[in-house]
Amino acid sequence: MTHILHRSIGPDLPRAVSGEGVWIADAQGKRYLDGSGGAAVTALGHGNAEVLDAMRRQMDAIAYAHTSFFTTDAAESLADRLVGLAPGGLEHVYLVSGGSEAVEAALKMARQYFVEIGQPQRRHIIARRQSYHGNTIGALATGGNEWRRRQFQPILPETHHVSPCYAYRDMAAGESPEEYGARLAVELDETIRRLGADEVIAFVAEPVVGATLGAVTAVPGYFRAIREVCDRHGVLLILDEVMCGMGRTGTIFAHEQEGIAPDLVTIAKGLGGGYQPIGAVMLSDRIYRAFAEGSGLFQHGHTYIGHPIAAAAADKVVEIMARPGMMENVQAMGERLQSGLESRLGQHPNVGDIRGRGLFRGVELVADRDSKTPLDPALKTHAKIKKEAMARGLMCYPMGGTIDGVRGDHVLLAPPYIIAPEEVDILVDRLGDAI
Ligand code: PMP
Repeated sequence: MTHILHRSIGPDLPRAVSGEGVWIADAQGKRYLDGSGGAAVTALGHGNAEVLDAMRRQMDAIAYAHTSFFTTDAAESLADRLVGLAPGGLEHVYLVSGGSEAVEAALKMARQYFVEIGQPQRRHIIARRQSYHGNTIGALATGGNEWRRRQFQPILPETHHVSPCYAYRDMAAGESPEEYGARLAVELDETIRRLGADEVIAFVAEPVVGATLGAVTAVPGYFRAIREVCDRHGVLLILDEVMCGMGRTGTIFAHEQEGIAPDLVTIAKGLGGGYQPIGAVMLSDRIYRAFAEGSGLFQHGHTYIGHPIAAAAADKVVEIMARPGMMENVQAMGERLQSGLESRLGQHPNVGDIRGRGLFRGVELVADRDSKTPLDPALKTHAKIKKEAMARGLMCYPMGGTIDGVRGDHVLLAPPYIIAPEEVDILVDRLGDAI
């Protein structure tokens, strides 16, 4: 019997009692390989002594300091480190306590930026269909995932949605990746014009789509074309790296691999590595200066922003992930995971696509490989895979029927960056058995 309102109400969940490396043990002593990092959270695995030590030292020093009175060494050090690691153009950091908070803050920052520079008429946000940007009401309104939105309609504010970059399903026969990316940029351009080019605030997108589509990378050139369209109309580009950022795809920032400079980037999940809830918005100097030279106040804030213990944990997590060898391991183990999945599941009649980047991989399931017909949502295949995987001691992140109610099931994999080759092989075996 539980008194907690769990997110899915049903049979009692196993109780997680301890964690070590990529493994979690429940109260019965059963061990689970953390193949999804929870939900792309546990970047360094469990029980990292250095992170625990950094948290302990911070707790000894001071538990909490309100950010309207104080800054702390922990928060300053984390911000310095993030700016130092960013590929350029992102020079300031606004700390929050999670992904949805980061997206909310970025949206409000973008909106207020235009107020500060005398363009208060800009009011539209454009995002992509089938996207997820968080569960608070503003972040939910930004996402284009109908399944998540439908019970809460009408949601404020109104967001406009364009097509995601999802080559497996949407690239036309005979179309090249370049033509497909260019077609999507034209769609964004037309949407901005239709709304009124001087009334649009921002375009929001995940560089690699996580929860809703399952580790879908953009075609080469897509983000450069999108950046050009945004620049043409003075629209800000917000990249949501809550899930795909902080080393997950083999570089600290996912957009490093797209060769573009966004105006705002949201990060969370891997930033705290699961040791503490934390998120952040990184912003360009242009945006910072508008606030500094304008009202001098970003009209936003939560009690726990810049929490010193969360900042100390994240500062150590990021320091460790940036050490030589860590991103190389993400890339090498990511390749091993991809080829393991391809040899184990590549011929499976219900596996349509195996994809992703770094330790962020997705397996899309279909009823038929040729027609790519999705599985019947009523079968709830994703829920069955989750159950079968847990029975075999594997945590993976299956999703399904949530993508406009039509597109199908997929399994997202996002293990900790410290995963060893033999653990990748166990992951592949257990997932193969479960599927
Ligand atoms: N944006 C993206 C891309 C996400 O994947 C998520 C979480 N799955 C969020 C935002 C929201 O983050 P949180 O759950 O920490 O609020």
